[in-house]
Amino acid sequence: MSSEKDSLTYAKTAYEHILSLLEEHHRFIRDSIVLIASENVPSPAVREALASDFGNRYAEGWPGERIYAGCKYIDEVELLAIELGKRLFKAEFVDVRPISGVVANLITYTAFTEPGDIMMSLAIPHGGHISHSKRSWGGTAGAVRGLVVEHYEFDEYNYEIDLDATRRKLKSLASEGKKPKIFMLGASVFLFPHPVREIAEMAKEFDARVVYDAAHVAGLIAGGIFQDPLREGADVMTMSTHKTLAGPQHGMLCSWAKYEEALKKAAFPGMLSNHHLHAVAGVAICLAEAIAFYKDYSRQIVRNAKALAQALYERGVDVLYEHRGFTESHTIVADVSKYMNGKQAEEKLEQAKIIINRNLIPKDYRLKTDYRTPSGIRLGTQEVTRLGMRESEMEWIAELIAKVIVKGEDPSKVAQEVSELKRPFNKVHYCFTSKTEAYSYVQIR
Ligand SMILES: *Cc1c(COP(=O)(O)O)cnc(C)c1O
Repeated sequence: MSSEKDSLTYAKTAYEHILSLLEEHHRFIRDSIVLIASENVPSPAVREALASDFGNRYAEGWPGERIYAGCKYIDEVELLAIELGKRLFKAEFVDVRPISGVVANLITYTAFTEPGDIMMSLAIPHGGHISHSKRSWGGTAGAVRGLVVEHYEFDEYNYEIDLDATRRKLKSLASEGKKPKIFMLGASVFLFPHPVREIAEMAKEFDARVVYDAAHVAGLIAGGIFQDPLREGADVMTMSTHKTLAGPQHGMLCSWAKYEEALKKAAFPGMLSNHHLHAVAGVAICLAEAIAFYKDYSRQIVRNAKALAQALYERGVDVLYEHRGFTESHTIVADVSKYMNGKQAEEKLEQAKIIINRNLIPKDYRLKTDYRTPSGIRLGTQEVTRLGMRESEMEWIAELIAKVIVKGEDPSKVAQEVSELKRPFNKVHYCFTSKTEAYSYVQIR
């Protein structure tokens, strides 16, 4: 008896604790400035979709050909998501079922390769992502699909793929009988557009596919400000739907009709059973918002990134690639090693309620720096922009970051200034309706 009562007490305590941690997290984020380049805050309408009953249902397969009953509204929403996606990204084929960016990539690996095939991608310190990476890194391409990953040669000074050196590398690979099947583009530190046309030319020689991973820049592409990979020669564009594209955490891919069957089959029954239907509804809403508002949103994101970079640079933070205008995207990277390592910067800034992340930068590739204590930090402006911040707020943020990193001021004092700067920016912009505050905790229990 008593042990049953103990269990009940234990469960109730845990239950209440979990709910109170969620509320605390909301307050923490509300009072912080979040500059993580891979995150965003979705609109209240997207949050509504995430709380809907769609999230409790199954709908395996393609709309109209489901393996489950009860899908009539779900099918309609998914077809709308596909239609909106086709219009926004000018694609012949769109699949909104991948449950994340990594899963979208894995679908392309499955559709276009066999284990043991070769794939070209960027090394992680050059901006590459774990899902493009080698078996020895535990990366998805190598460890899950069994691909042999070769890296593009990289021009560290300009932060771009070194095309001539890569051509030479491909020639020497080919002379050993090694022919890439996929040329992966896209990155997690994605500062400047990638040379899609040139890489597509190289891929043609090998009859290989070009996959462009737009996880970070999908919202910028949607707004027409970064590049247009499908027009420049990409066969598939994969993405996460929650970085610069401010939807729910999910994935999506866009491609051409000729690849439709192969990609569909790799997605289901290959990679997915349930595909998170509440998130599909959220993606549909987000795509509609993108058609309506991202022309303005994407431009302000990039303006803010450039302004933040410039203001940090003027305050003694070594933001990289000044000679190229720092960035053409939402992301900037800085070398903080003359003050501290990236991990220390991350921790101190978090104490100041400025949330950023440490990052490997190109010189770490040469120095073979431990990935746990890299030389750099990565910052993104997409979330603060969504809250209505503009260039003048970027100056403020730079000042607060410099207080912590350059001047060594007490982070807990800076935290108060951070919360004050943040307070008026409490609504999501660039969406149809925004009654609920961006970070309010919505109780429905
Ligand atoms: C973030 C990211 C992903 C992973 O996306 P998830 O949606 O988290 O699976 C894939 N590729 C790149 C380049 C990324 O930066």
